[in-house]
Amino acid sequence: MKALRGLMRDRRGLINRKVVIIGVIVIALVIALRLFLSFIHVPPILMYHSVDIFSEITKLSVSPELFAKQMDFFYRHKYNVVSLEEMVNLIKSRKGIPPKTVTITFDDGYTNNYDFAYPVLKKYGFPATFFIITTLVGKPAYMDWDQLKELEKNNITIGSHTIDHQWLPNLSDKDLRRELFDSKKVLEKHLNNEVKFVSYPVGAHDERVQKVVKEAGYEAACATNPGPDKRWDDIYALKRLRISRSSTNMVIFWIETSGYYTFIKEVRDEK
Ligand SMILES: [Zn+2]
Repeated sequence: MKALRGLMRDRRGLINRKVVIIGVIVIALVIALRLFLSFIHVPPILMYHSVDIFSEITKLSVSPELFAKQMDFFYRHKYNVVSLEEMVNLIKSRKGIPPKTVTITFDDGYTNNYDFAYPVLKKYGFPATFFIITTLVGKPAYMDWDQLKELEKNNITIGSHTIDHQWLPNLSDKDLRRELFDSKKVLEKHLNNEVKFVSYPVGAHDERVQKVVKEAGYEAACATNPGPDKRWDDIYALKRLRISRSSTNMVIFWIETSGYYTFIKEVRDEK
């Protein structure tokens, strides 16, 4: 009887040890997974261009219906849509980006942004940043100063997308300074706020361009995706996610805006 009790105690001891070992392994795996996920996370800064009614699939446009559906997705699933300024501050703070935090940006300044995207953003109270090419303001298909002023009063940040939308690394020092300094000045002359952000035309930039951006007084700059060898926390070359007509499926949109898509894409593109 005594021997049997001893045997059962030993068995219980063995089981307890096994439970502890399995527990430790599970906790270690969870910690490793969390570390890996935080390592590969890139803050989702969405990049839109045209929001139009044309039906052909292009990489640079979404339909008004799709845009409304995507914003409704953020609203219903309680995403934290923050301004670019807030996102830059979060990145600079190095405290980590809270889950479901996203930022919305638009390049080029099309009138269809005012017609179709702005009313939806206003409806949900979502902030966004519109990057404007200053020589095109008021030209056919581009927003005019009155429209930009209205946006500015309604939670929209206006940023520079340069004067002429040129490939910045190819420009002479003089022309580069003109594109970056003068576009900021022109926007600030017509609008009420300081212009703190710039978006590189076609994402093109290099060290010299970044240096002039800093000299011009910009607080951060948006690129497209400069690639896996570039840091995600370089606030003068922020990686953005191109949202296009192919993002029609909300599951795909959810993955794209999860913060892990940039890593997935970079791994996929490297193959
Ligand atoms: Zn552009």
